[in-house]
Amino acid sequence: MEQSCFIHTHESAAHECSQCGHGYCVDCLHIVDHQAVCRNCIHRFRVPSENEAIASILISSIVAAIAVALNSSEFINFIQTIWG
Ligand SMILES: [Zn+2]
Ligand SMILES: [Zn+2]
Repeated sequence: MEQSCFIHTHESAAHECSQCGHGYCVDCLHIVDHQAVCRNCIHRFRVPSENEAIASILISSIVAAIAVALNSSEFINFIQTIWG
């Protein structure tokens, strides 16, 4: 029995998503770390890119530098309030 794509029911499934296990056609699948991942799962499967990681480190360093410069615990509380 041939499985059809979970989204395009008229298309035959090329592979199963390694995350949700549904079958998908080639248009719906992405290869991440040598695994087939569907478009629905790729968002939660995707790891932050190097640039995003560097950006977040930069922002935390800048915030820390400002906090030290101001030597203010109120400022740290303020930032924590904004960032949750
Ligand atoms: Zn999936
Ligand atoms: Zn499809």
